[in-house]
Amino acid sequence: MKVAVEELFYSYPGKDVLKGVTLGLVETEIICIVGPNGSGKSTLVKCVEGLQHPRSGRVLFDGVDAAKLSRVEIARLIGYVPQSSSQLFSASVFDTVMMGRKPHYSWRCSDEDVDIVSDILQMMELDDLAMDDYNNLSGGQQQRVLIARALAQEPQLLLLDEPTSALDISHQLEVMEIVHELVHSRKIGVMMVIHDLNLASRYADRIVMLHNGLVYAAGTAEDTLTEANIEEVYGVEADIHCHNGTLSVIPVRRVSGMRNPVLQAAGV
Ligand code: ADP
Repeated sequence: MKVAVEELFYSYPGKDVLKGVTLGLVETEIICIVGPNGSGKSTLVKCVEGLQHPRSGRVLFDGVDAAKLSRVEIARLIGYVPQSSSQLFSASVFDTVMMGRKPHYSWRCSDEDVDIVSDILQMMELDDLAMDDYNNLSGGQQQRVLIARALAQEPQLLLLDEPTSALDISHQLEVMEIVHELVHSRKIGVMMVIHDLNLASRYADRIVMLHNGLVYAAGTAEDTLTEANIEEVYGVEADIHCHNGTLSVIPVRRVSGMRNPVLQAAGV
């Protein structure tokens, strides 16, 4: 599925957050959205998912305006994995992943739904935890369950909001490898908000760098993760190295006299 975000504007009361964001994504592509805190990354993802409605601009799925689709139609196209999610009620891993099938059945799941969930649990190596309570799992395990739940929707686009932020380096790599593998095996697109520029550089086909609600830079890691861009957008002097064909970003120091990008974004 082709996704097009056209000139998106979004405001919270008294605050303009997205100021004309345009980007596109094709299937089997991983786009990483990077940028400082407050630059509008989560808001952008929520607008694409339809959780928030832009003031103006459009999101198109294969040319169809998302504003014309129902929640169920969107849920069949998009799997959204929030930053974290604790459940207020007790539910097993199996039942939590089965919730992802909801857009596909009316009131009762079928044998096919059970098979789909079982296959996904196996693929995500969650089958041993199937009957465990989701709330008792580690952060890494919960993240895998949330991705499994999104996959159970059989989406064409996976939206991930900081999927690695709560994870140790081993689980960060695990989640990124799983996502990378899924993109090709299931021919889906991925839009991922991520803070770790090194993971973005390694796994993204394209990086979109947001700054003050606008796309500041977009393209390959080489195009976007430049010393000049990082200094301008994050207010940080960084050394960029290339190791085995992948860029790594080493933050050196905050640039003196540079305004705090969070306060800048907040208009303070
Ligand atoms: P990012 O994901 O890049 O950190 P967000 O999209 O979460 O940025 O937030 C962008 C800006 O919008 C921030 O300044 C944030 O404080 C503000 N914001 C986010 N959610 C709300 C909200 N529900 N009400 C008011 N302001 C909000």
